[in-house]
Amino acid sequence: MKLSKYRVEPGQDIILGDFDTHDNGGWERGAAESRTAELNSRLEYLQELLYAERRHKVLFVIQATDTGGKDGTIRHVFDKVNPQGVKVASFKKPTEVELAHDYLWRIHHHTPGAGEITIFNRSHYEDVLVVRVHDLVAPERWKRRYDHINNFEKMLADEGTTIVKFFLHISKDEQRERLQDRIDTPRKNWKFELGDLRERELWDDYQAAFTTMLERTSTEHAPWFVIPADRKWFRNLLISEIVVDTLERLDMSWPDPEPGIEGLVIE
Ligand code: AMP
Ligand code: MG
Repeated sequence: MKLSKYRVEPGQDIILGDFDTHDNGGWERGAAESRTAELNSRLEYLQELLYAERRHKVLFVIQATDTGGKDGTIRHVFDKVNPQGVKVASFKKPTEVELAHDYLWRIHHHTPGAGEITIFNRSHYEDVLVVRVHDLVAPERWKRRYDHINNFEKMLADEGTTIVKFFLHISKDEQRERLQDRIDTPRKNWKFELGDLRERELWDDYQAAFTTMLERTSTEHAPWFVIPADRKWFRNLLISEIVVDTLERLDMSWPDPEPGIEGLVIE
């Protein structure tokens, strides 16, 4: 699959409305699901190699419109990976202590160490998204943050972290269906909050905030991918492809055995 089609080039002008949220990349559901299962197995292997080698640090960032499918993505893409091998950091509304610090303070210590994969379920980007849409800080403050974030990610990359960021892009109509489903399906009720409807009214403001985020913070060392996410199975396939491709490019190899191990027979 041509992955670069979905990557945002540094400085690219973005018109989110021009991205097809319903894109299936020419795939049928059945074939896509089989391919995703193959990629899940490959990822299991690559994660073990990454851990054994303890050389690379890998960070995947996931941002999305509400109901965009962050949780489902993590569940499906990392389905086969050893739970000890991957960490997920979910960033909710900041606590009082977190708010008393700069906005990157709570983020930094969740970044991956050598041999680790970390997934950010929401991230420091909330500080130019929800914070911007709801005027939680003055515009002159959030406007400076794009540069801070690029510098922060550059520092992580310079120190050996591979960073890839996913924006899960759904249509407003798809969001309506997913919210309705959370109301109509008893076991999904827990996911629904009345506040989600207020956020939906701010749809255009969020789209504008996502647009600036993509335009200002997609860099060589930490690119954004815009993932068409109306079809969950295509979303899972595309992200699996990008995750596996990212790890394949690290060109890893199993560490050399300890000297003297060759031909050793255990008594
Ligand atoms: P959920 O992912 O549905 O559990 O919701 C988490 C909530 O935390 C969302 O409403 C986010 O907008 C909110 N949130 C995450 N990070 C921040 C932040 N830095 N400032 C304000 N709200 C945030
Ligand atoms: Mg929610």
